[in-house]
Amino acid sequence: MKITEIPCAGYEKVVRCEDPQSGLRAIISVHDTTLGPALGGLRMWPYLSEQEAMTDVNRLSQGMTYKSAVAETGLGGGKAVIIGNPKTDKSEALFRAMGRFVESLKGLYTTAEDVGTNVQDMVTVRQETKHVTGLPREMGSSGDPSPFTAIGVFLGIKACVEKTGGKDLKDVRIAVQGCGNVARYLCEHLAKAGAKLFVTDIVAEKAKMMVDKHGAKLVKAEEIYDLECDVFAPCALGAVINDDTIPRLKCRIVAGAANNVLLSEQHGDRLRERGIVYAPDFVINAGGIINVSVELEPGGYNEQRALQKVNNIYNAVHDILVTADREKIASNRAAILLAERKIAEGRKRKTAKAR
Ligand code: NAD
Repeated sequence: MKITEIPCAGYEKVVRCEDPQSGLRAIISVHDTTLGPALGGLRMWPYLSEQEAMTDVNRLSQGMTYKSAVAETGLGGGKAVIIGNPKTDKSEALFRAMGRFVESLKGLYTTAEDVGTNVQDMVTVRQETKHVTGLPREMGSSGDPSPFTAIGVFLGIKACVEKTGGKDLKDVRIAVQGCGNVARYLCEHLAKAGAKLFVTDIVAEKAKMMVDKHGAKLVKAEEIYDLECDVFAPCALGAVINDDTIPRLKCRIVAGAANNVLLSEQHGDRLRERGIVYAPDFVINAGGIINVSVELEPGGYNEQRALQKVNNIYNAVHDILVTADREKIASNRAAILLAERKIAEGRKRKTAKAR
């Protein structure tokens, strides 16, 4: 196994690993550990080049720093990627090699499941390192983070609707893009609250399940951006808010689970110019990391405590929207400023303690 450090400005440690025996090609990016050890998921994706993987892992890793800072999880930000196809390239040897790679950082980075990996893969990683979370509940761990992410997103949508004059979610029209792990639970909460659901997924059966279960209306994948609705909830991919889609949107709120929803920060400015309220992704989708962080608290995992903390997402989203209005800036910029302020305060505390 060959591990090489790659210098990246603004990142504490970025390492790549090549292990010809298992076929592992992976990168771990540790963005910032001022507020605690870095925690973030392990993504497996068929990246076309190592550069593409590097850009993705670094962007996601910085996002994790901000997410944990705002949610006050006591953790820093990191992320890992395996270059490979999760449908065809998985093996026990691959994930055990990944476990040894994680172990080589001696706790600076803790991993978890993400797009392309699952709880079972983490169980394999666990054979080589203890720095892994999101294992099955039977193992004393916090399990699948998706239901907690969904609760946070539901509360964040509610905060946006109420901030823009709505009383509750009854008859509010919500377009959900993607009907995967998070969206399934989200649709359940939204349907219970009386929202009118529109759904799409590139996997037809997944969307159909929401139609059958919640009476959601089916929309074609490309048409979701043009739909007249109150809330557009991206729960599939990142970068869906961009120059092409912003002019098409006929919603008044964008609030969903997906990471890196904005192609770039200036797309937050464009949403603001159009009068569309945006719930910053790393604030609204923090439920999963909050749940996982409780697992690392001294008393171990406690579901009630996790739920209590996830409930704060309503206030977190509301407060960011209020600050953005007051400062006359886009909400994503207000969220980044808040995260950076919390990290700077943490750095000051650390320096004072070291003196
Ligand atoms: P998932 O893979 O289970 O679900 C994504 C769904 O989107 C899939 O059903 C997929 O078929 C569908 N999809 C992909 N491209 C699409 C397109 N162009 N149009 C419509 N549907 C499309 O993933 P998930 O765990 O539900 O996560 C969803 C998003 O939320 C991801 O961006 C993820 O990074 C983010 N997120 C998830 C969690 C979590 O706890 N799982 C936490 C924070 C953020």
